[in-house]
Amino acid sequence: MSIRKIVSYGDEGLRQKSKEVSKISKKIQTLVHDLIDTMYANNGVGLAAPQIGEHLRVFVIDVSTGNEPLNPRVFINPKIIKKSGACSSYEGCLSFPEAYTDVKRYADVTVKALGLNGKPFILEGKDGSLLARAIQHEFDHLDGILFVDHCRNRFEADRILKEKGLNPVDGEYILEEPELDEALKDLPSNPGDTVLPEDNK
Ligand code: ZN
Repeated sequence: MSIRKIVSYGDEGLRQKSKEVSKISKKIQTLVHDLIDTMYANNGVGLAAPQIGEHLRVFVIDVSTGNEPLNPRVFINPKIIKKSGACSSYEGCLSFPEAYTDVKRYADVTVKALGLNGKPFILEGKDGSLLARAIQHEFDHLDGILFVDHCRNRFEADRILKEKGLNPVDGEYILEEPELDEALKDLPSNPGDTVLPEDNK
């Protein structure tokens, strides 16, 4: 188990699609423990394997806060089996140090995955909760999608990325999300209620 280096935005590795895990081998167990250690070492809420340079469909999330006991959850070969509603909030990412921007997400999401013990489980994140958003954020990493691809305001996102010395949003990757745009059109962008995947706890 070790703390691994996190791949930064700008590295093409973050745009690669990850492969399914065929067997939960010793190597995968080590990968999962490295992800958990690296997530905690960086005060993250989630971390996906491609962020440490491993293109495998694995991510970890821990949305526990304050004095709650740590609760790392492991997702291997995850599938999003249901998504509905819409929400928006400021998110960050350990691959984008200190850059936060407003992104569109589904409010409710159901994921099916294997745990580290190889058993399938189903988990629901509801009402735009941190869990619901973290699942979408980390799942995206496995397909080479980054949170800025869901930005509500490209100008704001570009300004923030520039402030942090990062590359601007790549227009080629911005997602068309008419369903979310329609649902969010009357909802103001509100940095006030920022709670974000991969933010400091
Ligand atoms: Zn991320």
